[in-house]
Amino acid sequence: MKYALVTGGSRGIGREIAKTIAKDHGYHVLVNYARNAAAADETVAMIEAEGGSAEALQFNVEIKTEVEKVLGDWQERNPDKVIEIIVNNAGITKDGLFALMEEEAWDSVVDISLKGFYNVTHHLIHKLQRNRWGRIVNVVSLSGTKGNAGQVNYSAAKGGMIAATKALGQEVAKRKITVNAVAPGFINTDMTKDLPADQLVKFVPANRFGEPQEVADLVSFLVSEKAGYITGEIININGGLYS
Ligand code: NAP
Repeated sequence: MKYALVTGGSRGIGREIAKTIAKDHGYHVLVNYARNAAAADETVAMIEAEGGSAEALQFNVEIKTEVEKVLGDWQERNPDKVIEIIVNNAGITKDGLFALMEEEAWDSVVDISLKGFYNVTHHLIHKLQRNRWGRIVNVVSLSGTKGNAGQVNYSAAKGGMIAATKALGQEVAKRKITVNAVAPGFINTDMTKDLPADQLVKFVPANRFGEPQEVADLVSFLVSEKAGYITGEIININGGLYS
């Protein structure tokens, strides 16, 4: 049995990624969540219903001590196991004009996406390097590649993850560890459910929002053996909105 971790795997894009990694690759998936235990348990149940194996793990990715405690305890219970796929998917938005943006809205958005990437990946990278095989996928956003008015905090967080993806990809490539990012446009999840979809689809050449499964299928390829020569890449998945 091989082991994968998906942060923010309880709902939305992360849930589909967790399910798809279990289904396509047969990994035992650690389904991380922050608050929503019922949703995380539901993701685990969905994986098990399809014959897969998973467990829910609660920790807030922005708190380094919490990440280290929970993942450290897991490693103690599973001393010979290596988490060899890491999907840094947890993220939030707190939108508003920059001139009016409170420090908390900046810090929480940057800390969950960018610091969360550091907290989780840094804790696991040493063992991954010794393993000499690994896959890291960061879920970023069109806002991080293009920049989006009203989302200076979120654009900065995802832009930081994009740069980190490219840099870390170079550091660990020799160890057969790839580091890539996927950059979705509008995807149907809780995060986008209050957006005016009928107006926004007019800007999407594909004329629709994407589905979490479509992002999960891209991630599934990037974590596969076949994708071993792709690293440091940011792959857009946005219905032609921008690339
Ligand atoms: P979502 O439906 O709102 O789900 C967010 C997930 O992140 C939940 O599982 C949530 O856990 C988890 N999470 C939030 N804060 C966390 C924390 N501090 N520690 C650990 N987990 C935390 O969002 P989504 O649309 O699936 O988004 C997933 C990723 O895709 C995010 O990084 C987002 O920025 C990115 N993205 C989304 C879109 C889109 O259109 N939806 C577009 C581009 C990029 P709980 O259930 O416990 O709250």
